[in-house]
Amino acid sequence: MHEFSLARAAKETILSLNCNRIIVYIGQIQQIDIDLFKNALLSELNGMDVNVSFQEVKAKFKCNVCANEFYYDEIDLSEEEKEDIHFLPESIHIFVKCPKCFSNDFKIVEGRGVFIEKCETK
Ligand SMILES: [Zn+2]
Repeated sequence: MHEFSLARAAKETILSLNCNRIIVYIGQIQQIDIDLFKNALLSELNGMDVNVSFQEVKAKFKCNVCANEFYYDEIDLSEEEKEDIHFLPESIHIFVKCPKCFSNDFKIVEGRGVFIEKCETK
């Protein structure tokens, strides 16, 4: 499962940071089940002296045509379309258009992938 291998990779990163307070940033546009990933990571870290908090990163786009910046939350999408984007993030260019010029030529500036950051060292 994707979530479990990601949780193991995150654990390796967390251990290499040698820090007891960690923030895990999870992009809004993500192929993983976030709750499943959180639980998998917390069980990987079980018994270790690490305090993990999770934060969602809102997906942000920039239009390649008119340079307008907009957020995923501003786009009016059906549950079905959101579901499709969740399973295949590349399909976002089919469903999302720039609210200003209606182009689907935009780049995803923020809100993809998982990032780990430490708060303080031991
Ligand atoms: Zn535009």
